[in-house]
Amino acid sequence: MEANNKEGCRDKSGNSTTSAAIVAMMREAQIQPSMQRMAVLELLAAERCHPSAEEIYSRLLPSVPTLSRTTVYNTLHLMAEKNLVHEIEIEPGVTRYDLAARPPHGHFLCRGCGRIFDIELTVSPDDVPGEFVTDSVDVFCRGLCPECAAAGSAETD
Ligand SMILES: [Zn+2]
Ligand SMILES: [Zn+2]
Repeated sequence: MEANNKEGCRDKSGNSTTSAAIVAMMREAQIQPSMQRMAVLELLAAERCHPSAEEIYSRLLPSVPTLSRTTVYNTLHLMAEKNLVHEIEIEPGVTRYDLAARPPHGHFLCRGCGRIFDIELTVSPDDVPGEFVTDSVDVFCRGLCPECAAAGSAETD
């Protein structure tokens, strides 16, 4: 599925994450900031698309021709382990990635256009009954985004 309208994926907050901030995040997580690792993290900081490893690889390849798929996968694994990125498994068989530094939010998968949206909906580990020991909480919703819902109702009218 060729999902993402690239325009809708840019971080519109205007706080672009500087290279210095990227390096600082990696140092804090005790990850050696190689050029290729920085490129992966910079992409995740700039985009709100929740790209898969495959998408990250193909997006970076033109600007980082020495990049290998293995490096992208290994980098994402390492960053997930160090809590720099979150793995999102909203679709079977596809792991997508989000910057962990973002405030907690839920995800909405549109079955019309395939885009994944950040939504303000959170469940905290405190909401889980106390006898459970919670490692992580994910909030996933599926359905139609406002655009696709409007397009759908226009068709049936
Ligand atoms: Zn949609
Ligand atoms: Zn997100």
